Amino acid sequence: MPWTRAFFLLLGIPTEECGVFIAENAHRWGSPTLHRQKKCSKPALFAAAVAAVLLPAARAQTPAQAPIILLDAAHGGPDTGARLTEKLPERDVTIAFANRLQSLLIVRGFKVVLTHTTPDDAANLTGDGRVELANRSGAIACLTLHASGNAAGVHIFTSALPETEPALQGSKPVLWNEAQAPWVTRSLRLASELQAAISRSHTPVTNHRTWLAALDSLTCPAVAIELGPLDDATAQDPTYQQRVAEAVAGALLFWRGHPNAVTGAGAVR
Ligand SMILES: [Zn+2]
Repeated sequence: MPWTRAFFLLLGIPTEECGVFIAENAHRWGSPTLHRQKKCSKPALFAAAVAAVLLPAARAQTPAQAPIILLDAAHGGPDTGARLTEKLPERDVTIAFANRLQSLLIVRGFKVVLTHTTPDDAANLTGDGRVELANRSGAIACLTLHASGNAAGVHIFTSALPETEPALQGSKPVLWNEAQAPWVTRSLRLASELQAAISRSHTPVTNHRTWLAALDSLTCPAVAIELGPLDDATAQDPTYQQRVAEAVAGALLFWRGHPNAVTGAGAVR
């Protein structure tokens, strides 16, 4: 066995990959053509040895997986939702808001899972299908997004299910439509942070408790957010959406670090 092959085997680098690796690096060092080589050149051998030492260290420094936020733009497919104008269905506004919020959350270090990315993507998505997707996502928070043509300002809804002690989770079977109960306390704290942040953005905002299938079956801190018109803006207004989305993203960032806060102190942007 040639000593070069023995060296690479010792490092755990397949010699065949070594050949490709060498060709690519030879190109960087001025070789006019890319080709597989049967022998390792000395510069490539050195580079491979350095990589073998450094790559595991680089992998060890990879940051932990980003926390996940689940965004469900309500309606979609044949379910167009409310008519915000004669030609504008709610489903188009909620997906636009979800996409806008997604961008802001990614910048803040979150990973975002969307139940669908275009209004037509939701054509075969049932209500239970959305919930199943959310409950499997591993999200630290689940946000359902609505829009309205007449309910003024922003409205935040939390499940009306009575709060159940988290410690009781798993001690008895959980009904599908009551799965949110052990999460209600955390959902209320999240709603409080969202309300405070949106209010600070000089936007009228009201919190509610409600019976809503889309919330009651979720096994994550969950709220529904409805964008309604203001005196000077409709729900589809990009500036209005951006202002609310920034407040929501900032509140989620604060809430992630302070999940038990109830003061509405989240001023992080
Ligand atoms: Zn709706």
